Amino acid sequence: MDCLFCKIIAGEIPSAKVYEDDTVFAFRDIEPQAPVHVLIVPKEHIASANEINESNSAVVAHIFEVAAKIAKDEGLTDGYRIVNNCGDSAGQTVKHLHFHLMGGRNFTWPAG
Ligand code: AMP
Ligand code: ZN
Repeated sequence: MDCLFCKIIAGEIPSAKVYEDDTVFAFRDIEPQAPVHVLIVPKEHIASANEINESNSAVVAHIFEVAAKIAKDEGLTDGYRIVNNCGDSAGQTVKHLHFHLMGGRNFTWPAG
């Protein structure tokens, strides 16, 4: 499949890996928007949050467990932001479900 994140998970494209287990992979964003900016993705190819359903949603819960662990490991004791862009108008550029874990600075709300 011609999917950038599937290739990163398979090791065909290099990445700065932060975490990996049987179902989840996490790596540093190549264009960080915060001092800590990690992308957390399911190993299974799910195109977007809009394709989460009864049969694949367990990995999403696991991603949030992993996010808390990474945040702790990265020293984000003051808080952090988790973002998912779903679809074109939200700015999703890679069509493989991913959650941005960002921290190390203050964030404004609502996000632009
Ligand atoms: P989104 O715009 O929500 O789809 O997020 C895609 C993210 O992937 C962006 O923040 C990009 O900077 C990031 N990205 C694109 N290519 C790579 C890559 N090869 N390694 C790490 N991050 C990447
Ligand atoms: Zn993929």
